[in-house]
Amino acid sequence: MNSFQDELNQRLALIREQGLSRELRRVDSPQGTHINVGGRSLLNFSSNDYLGLANEPALKDAAKKAVDEFGAGSGASRLICGSLAPHHELEGLLAEFKGAEAALSFSSGYAAVMGAICALLGKEDMIVTDQLVHASIVDAARLSGATLRIFAHNDLNELADILKRADSQSRNTQQASRILIVTESVFSMDGDLAPIREIIELKEKHGAWLMLDEAHATGLYGERRRGLAEACELADRVEIQMGTLGKALGAAGGYICGSRSLIDYLINRARTFIFSTAPGPASAAAATAAIKLVQAGEGEVRRSRLWQRVDSVKNALIKAGWRLPPVQSAIIPLVIGPESKALALANSLRGDGIFIPAIRYPSVGRGQARLRVTVSAAHSPEDIAALAATLRRTAQEIGNAH
Ligand SMILES: *Cc1c(COP(=O)(O)O)cnc(C)c1O
Repeated sequence: MNSFQDELNQRLALIREQGLSRELRRVDSPQGTHINVGGRSLLNFSSNDYLGLANEPALKDAAKKAVDEFGAGSGASRLICGSLAPHHELEGLLAEFKGAEAALSFSSGYAAVMGAICALLGKEDMIVTDQLVHASIVDAARLSGATLRIFAHNDLNELADILKRADSQSRNTQQASRILIVTESVFSMDGDLAPIREIIELKEKHGAWLMLDEAHATGLYGERRRGLAEACELADRVEIQMGTLGKALGAAGGYICGSRSLIDYLINRARTFIFSTAPGPASAAAATAAIKLVQAGEGEVRRSRLWQRVDSVKNALIKAGWRLPPVQSAIIPLVIGPESKALALANSLRGDGIFIPAIRYPSVGRGQARLRVTVSAAHSPEDIAALAATLRRTAQEIGNAH
């Protein structure tokens, strides 16, 4: 027992030495632009609640109603007796919202990715991903046993090379193996966009499949706010559309949308779906209310307000001396580099009343630590002015080098 503790303490010491130690910060308020941490109200520029829905009355009322009608728990997995009406309502609405034949909800986006990839691919197959995809995709690829090939971020030439090589290999071995390309539409830690049209063209040329992770795009892009695939008019050419209910939709859970056969197959084969208790009725109902709100005029009001806010944050940060990559989403990374430096800046910002944790390895590459500023439609112009004033001092402190 002691050597177990010693071993863990050594491992923790190593994590701390590298500036990679993480700790939980208790929040004593609902999610929002101001959160209560350690008895202080902090201005929050770090959540993925892009449309300000996490504490929205319509979602809370729907959740409460579902608790009254269906209870707190689901009792079992969906395939035993946990497939409650709120889950079916959610999936019906999700399919309609995304313009897909069918939808399946999971307890999280992580579980959706894991369940879908491991159900669809095995060790004879190949998964090709962008270098910067989310950990859930990397973990799923590993667990599936498929060969994992990674192309440099948004590098279409490298993707084409990988697909060409895979083609000639399968001709030589006469083995029909499947290839799944996985990318995010909006990259979670960099906020830039994938060239989905070109990726789809390559996928079709080589007979591969595509899974598009719209975690940071659902609710925010496209005429009907379905995501970036809709904005590019490409949704019907994506085999597997994945997203989360926990970011712009303000609730919790994940989903896969696609053909009826895809969903029927996942119900039979996605282990994270089959072997896990169904999410509570409250979270399914909250997600349903969120989709209704996003589909309605209010969704457009929030979305356009979000882009206005993103624009003001961008302009304010540039004025404050920060060099920004092209801003294409509500995610604005201030790349600092060394982990310990990013951590020190995050601590100093917190001292100034602003909450932007340092994002470090393994969420991003080593030496790529950053302050990941995320903007919400709920931020007020005053919030943005306060952020800019503090970050102007920060930029001066670190010598305007960023
Ligand atoms: C957050 C996220 C997920 C996982 O979704 P959860 O609902 O939080 O489990 C998957 N992919 C990307 C790109 C994400 O940012």
